[in-house]
Parts: sequence; C-alpha cells; structure tokens
Amino acid sequence: MRQIIFMTAFKVGIIGAGPSGLAMLRAFESEQKKGNPIPELKCYEKQDNWGGMWNYTWRTGVGKYGEPLHGSMYKYLWSNGPKECLEFADYTFTEHFGQPISSYPPREVLFDYIEGRIKQSNARDYIQFNTVARWVDYLPETKQFRVIFDNLVKNETFEEIFDYLVVGTGHFSTPNMPYFKGIDNFPGAVMHAHDFRGADQFKNQKLLLIGSSYSAEDIGVQCYKHGSAGVTISYRSNPLGSKWPDGIKEKPLVTHFEGNKAFFKDGTSEEFDAVVFCTGYQHKFPFLPDNLRLKTKNCLYPDNLYKGVIFHENEKLIFLGMQDQYYTFNMFDTQAWFARDYMLGRVALPNGQERRKDIDKWMDYEKRSLTGEEHVDFQTDYIKDLISYTDYPAFDLDKVADMFKSWLKDKEESILGYRDKVYQSVMDNTHAEKHHTKWMKEMDDSLERYLDEQPADEFELSKENYY
Ligand code: FAD
Ligand code: NAP
Ligand code: MG
Repeated sequence: MRQIIFMTAFKVGIIGAGPSGLAMLRAFESEQKKGNPIPELKCYEKQDNWGGMWNYTWRTGVGKYGEPLHGSMYKYLWSNGPKECLEFADYTFTEHFGQPISSYPPREVLFDYIEGRIKQSNARDYIQFNTVARWVDYLPETKQFRVIFDNLVKNETFEEIFDYLVVGTGHFSTPNMPYFKGIDNFPGAVMHAHDFRGADQFKNQKLLLIGSSYSAEDIGVQCYKHGSAGVTISYRSNPLGSKWPDGIKEKPLVTHFEGNKAFFKDGTSEEFDAVVFCTGYQHKFPFLPDNLRLKTKNCLYPDNLYKGVIFHENEKLIFLGMQDQYYTFNMFDTQAWFARDYMLGRVALPNGQERRKDIDKWMDYEKRSLTGEEHVDFQTDYIKDLISYTDYPAFDLDKVADMFKSWLKDKEESILGYRDKVYQSVMDNTHAEKHHTKWMKEMDDSLERYLDEQPADEFELSKENYY
C-alpha cells in the first residue's frame, strides 16, 4: 500500500499535445488500463486542438492570440515516407480505417489516424488547450519544476508545480533564415517554408528554393505539380540529385541578389518571381532557462539526452521527439514508453558518468553514419535499444528499415512517382492498396476524396454529369 502511494504521488507536466505529447499520455493510459497506478498528469497545448504539426492551420505568422504560429504544414501535403514506417504498434491503419489504404496518405488522413488512437482514451481530459508554457524554474530544494503558463483565452497567467517535466514541443517550427546580400530588395514574395501554405500562389511563377533537404524537395515537387513556371533548388552542401523533370533543376548556392535576379556560385544568374527559404529549423525553447535548454542542431542524436530522452543536466526533465526523423510516430511511442517506465521507477538510471558514456557512444555512432541507409540503420538501432527496456509491442524493425531503404531507392528512381508505391504493414501484415489515382494527377488531398473509390478522371466526369 505504501509503495502504491509513493509510486503515484507525483505529478507529471507535459508541454505540447502533438504526436510526442500524445504518445506520453497514451503510454500512461496503457498502464492505467492494466490496473496499475499512474501519476497525476497535466498536458498543456498552445493550439486549440491536438495533433501538433498535423493540426493544419491556414494562418501564417501569429495565431489567433498573437503567439508565434506552430504549424509548418501546407495544403496538398502528403506523407513523404511510407505510412508502414510510422504505424503505431498498438493501433494499426487497418484498425482505424477498416480497409487497406495506400502507403502515402495526405495530411488530413494522417491527422485522422493520430486522432483515432487518442480518442479511444480519456486523454483529452488531461489536456488544457490554448495554453502556452512561458517559463520554467527548477526548484532544487524540492526537486520540482515551477512552470508559468498563459491561458490565452482568458488572458490569465498561472503556475503549476511538477515533479517531472516532459517537453514535446517539436523542432520544425522556428525558421532558420540566413541572409543573402540583396534579398532585402527582392521585389517578389520571400518566405520561409514554415509560412508556405500551398503551391497555388506560385502558379505560373518562377520559383527559387534555397536549401536541399525534405522541404526543398517536396515544395519543389508540389509547385511543379500545381503549375509553377519553373523551380530552381539552390544547395549549400550537396544537391538532392533526383532525376528531375524538365521544370525543376538544381544549382549551387546563391551568392547574392540584384533586384529579381539571383546570382549563383557557379557564376550563373537567373530572374525569379519568388524565393522560398527551405533552410531548416531551429530547436527553440523560449520557455526554458539556459541550464535546462536543449542546445542542438537537427541531428539523429542530440547531445545531453540519455537514451535520446532524459536531459543529462537534470534527470527530471524529459524531451521527446527532438531527433531528426526517419521514424516518427512509433519512435515517439518508444520514447514515451521508456520515459514512462523511467518515471515509474522501473528503468534504473545509471550514474552521470555511465550516462555520459552511453550518450558519447551513440553520438560517435552517428558520426560514423554518413549515407541515407546508414542513417536509417542508426535510427533503427536506437529504437531497438529503447524498446528493449519496455513493453511497447515489439515489431519487425529490420523489415521497417528495409522499407525505408526501398523508399530511398523509389525516390531515386522517380521523385514524381514514389508515392504511388505500396508497402506491407509489419504490424498486421495488411498489404497497402494503390490509391485510385496517381499522385501526380491527384489534385485533391481531402480525406473525403482519398477514401473515394473513383479515379481522378472519372471523378471529374461524374462531377460534370452531376451538375
Ligand atoms: P509537433 O508535431 O511539432 O507538436 C508540438 C506541439 O507542441 C504543437 O502542438 C505545439 O503547438 C505545442 N507547443 C509548442 N510550444 C508550446 C508551448 N510553449 N506551450 C504549449 N504548447 C506548445 N512526419 C512524418 O512522419 N511524415 C510526414 O510526411 C511528415 N511531414 C512533415 C512535413 C513538415 C512540413 C514538417 C515540418 C514536419 C513533417 N513531419 C512528418 C515531421 C513531424 O514533425 C512529426 O510527424 C510530428 O508532428 C512531430 O511530433 P511532435 O509532437 O514531436 O512535434
Ligand atoms: P532539414 O532537413 O533540417 O534541412 C535543412 C536544409 O537547409 C539543408 O539542406 C541545409 O543544407 C539547408 N541550409 C541550412 N542553412 C543554410 C544556409 N545558411 N544556406 C543554405 N542552405 C542552408 O529541414 P527541412 O528540409 O525543412 O525538413 C524538416 C522536416 O520536415 C523533415 O522531418 C521532413 O521530413 C519534414 N517535411 C516533410 C514533408 C512532406 O512531404 N511530408 C515536406 C517538407 C518537410 P546543408 O545540407 O548544407 O546543411
Ligand atoms: Mg474535408
């Protein structure tokens, strides 16, 4: 009896109700379902709904209450990896949709899936929406955190005390925006990918994208698909190297601008209508003091996180989802299950020196991982390690790694066609179905249209017939 009181008499604060924060709630819920005691939980989310990045907003800049806007997603965003690689082990796509679907669903479909799992629980009762974490203090005497929040609707400030603090605020929200000489006088639209809300406005425009990672690749392909007059992707380190169609090309880095003309390192120049910075994001925690702040660039193993989760300088502070992501939803789950068992005292924490050694080992492994395939293997090994500590349902991670590797090849073979490929679930063996319409021809990304059975041409025809 005494032990149960001891186990549950602590309080956990979770900041953010995106896939990571929701994974934390789900992890505790699964424990509660087994009849085991769980701590007092409170989750705070600055947006008016859950889903994090997947909670699409048309807004840019600031939200309704003047807070920096979280969302970086856009209309026409489809999953850029096979859904079989991110599937929850305890809630499959087939369980959610009741039928096989394709391997690369659009955003709204993935949001629906995320929401489907969490709606099965009473997680919503633990979440206070429209509430932003402003500041955190660690109180060494009691080993607790004091967190100051703003209730945005009531315009009121309040504080809460927690024994553990879980930060799941994401790291693809705060733009990294380098300066290029002359950009100040560029006459057309200039924006960061964070503010890109869809390709429509770039129809018939000549577009320059700076950066050469996922955002540049996908925004370039989206704008091509939706009728831009030409896309140039400007890389700093390495070109993406895809087999581009006429209408997309790559160039070395921009050196400067003169009017609407961009000059490149290879001595060439070209005129553009618009510039989108696809230059990545900053890990930004304006609510954390210096000594609790995770300081890292986007990588597979940020420094100072034991098992990628527990802050090295203060072991009562937990970060979820701070890694660069091949795996997403199921990785956040394995992290959350690990964090849960650690907080419940089931996973023992080694001393500081041992933890440091473990962190160094992983960071060293990342340094030795250079290719896309090696990065996939790295993250696969990381998740295998995490899973070994908890009862998160085991799944065939080697097969998922293989799927990631064929995804890399699919993209190499056809950057416009890779989303038409289908994979098999390792969770329930469901074979994905081909989408009724090829991705390049599918201009409607709604859930309704996705679950519709008619191919795009017939759909257009039947609409005409109807009206
Ligand atoms: P987020 O989803 O970013 O959620 C963090 C939450 O914390 C948000 O709801 C935010 O409002 C809240 N928050 C932040 N600060 C505060 C605060 N101070 N107080 C209270 N609440 C706060 N992944 C895939 O698997 N497939 C894809 O196709 C894919 N596409 C992507 C496309 C884009 C453009 C981007 C940017 C990311 C994409 N991702 C994709 C990766 C995506 O980041 C993850 O899928 C996932 O959303 C990360 O979950 P998270 O909970 O860690 O962070
Ligand atoms: P990212 O992967 O961190 O890449 C940042 C890019 O910016 C790199 O190419 C980097 O070049 C470049 N860069 C940084 N500073 C620069 C500078 N000063 N000058 C020139 N280039 C600079 O960020 P991201 O591409 O925005 O991707 C973020 C996340 O969003 C990923 O998880 C991705 O999966 C997701 N996403 C998904 C979709 C989708 O289709 N579902 C679409 C978009 C994004 P170097 O290589 O030289 O460092
Ligand atoms: Mg709809």
